[in-house]
Amino acid sequence: MIGRLWVSRNKNIPLILIRIVGNAIRLHYPDRGKGIPSSILQRQALAFGESLNQDLSLLRVGIVGCGGTGSAVAMLLGRLGIGHIALFDKDVVEESNLNRLHGAFRDDVKQKLPKVQAIARSLLGLDVKVQVFQEWINEDVCCEALKSCDVIFGCTDDHSGRLLLNRFAYYYATPVIDLGLALEVANDVGSLKFACADGRVTVLMPKHSCLLCHGVIDPVQARDENLKRTDPDEFERRKKEAYVLGEGNPSPAVVTFTTSVAIMAIEELLHRLQGWRGENNAIANRVRKFTLTIDRNQGATYNPNCPICVNQEIWGLGDRDLFLEVL
Ligand SMILES: [Zn+2]
Repeated sequence: MIGRLWVSRNKNIPLILIRIVGNAIRLHYPDRGKGIPSSILQRQALAFGESLNQDLSLLRVGIVGCGGTGSAVAMLLGRLGIGHIALFDKDVVEESNLNRLHGAFRDDVKQKLPKVQAIARSLLGLDVKVQVFQEWINEDVCCEALKSCDVIFGCTDDHSGRLLLNRFAYYYATPVIDLGLALEVANDVGSLKFACADGRVTVLMPKHSCLLCHGVIDPVQARDENLKRTDPDEFERRKKEAYVLGEGNPSPAVVTFTTSVAIMAIEELLHRLQGWRGENNAIANRVRKFTLTIDRNQGATYNPNCPICVNQEIWGLGDRDLFLEVL
C-alpha cells in the first residue's frame, strides 16, 4: 500500500507512512520488514520479530501528562525503541512527585525543573527523539503536535485534558490510550484493605466507546479546570460562592500501581501492532482490580446519544475552522 498527496496539479509528495487503525494497528511504508536489525533490540526481535522493531522506530507517540503513569510510559517506550516521543505537561517537579515520577530527583525540586525536562533527560542516550511541550494541552502548539502523533497516551488526571483527548481520538481517528488509577483507602478503623484499587486502560478511537460513555469524565469539573487556567480571579470568586468545584485533597498514589497501569497500556499498543495475544484479543477497556489480583475486560458501554463516539459524522473529520469545533 502506497499513497501520495497532490499539492498542486503537477506536484506530489509520497506518503511516508500509512496507518490503519482498529483493533489492529497496521503500518504501511516502503521497505517494511527490510529494516537494519538493531543490536540493542535483538532480544526483543527474538520475541516479536524484526518488523515490530522497525514499526516502533517510525512511530510518533504523544504522552499527555507526565506524572506517575506518564513518566513510566515514557521510560518503557524509550527502552522499546520508539522513534519519536512528544511529552506534554505544564508542571514542574514537586517533592510530592518523587515517590512515583520516574527520572526525577530531589535537586529537580529545588530547581523547579519541568517534568517534561526530567523525563527527557532520562531518555538521553537511547535511539529516541524527544520533543517537550511545557504547555497546557489546549495551547495551539500542543494541538498541532498532537496531529502528528500516530498514537497518544492519555496520562493526565484532569478532566479538561481528558475531554480534549476524547474528542481528538474521533475527529482525527488517532488512537488515544487513556490511563487511570483509582486508589481509595478504607474508612473503617483498623482495616488495612483498600476500599478500591483499580487501574484502567481505555482505548479511544472510532468504533470504541468514549470516556463520556464510560463515565470517566465529569464535564462540569472540566469546565471549572478550564476557568481556573484562563481566568483565575473569576475562578476564585466563584469558588468562594461555591459555584465551582475546588480541588479536593490529593489522592493517594503509589509507584507500583502507577507503573503497573503504564505497563498494561503499552501491552495494549504492542498487541495492536503485532498481535501477540492472538486474534480478537484487543481490549478496549481493561480494568485491573489490584486487591483481587484479576483483570476485567469491561467491554463497550455506549450512551445512544453520545455526541462523540456514537456520532459517526465527526469521525475522521480532521481539521475544522475551530480545532475540534470547540477551541
Ligand atoms: Zn461516547
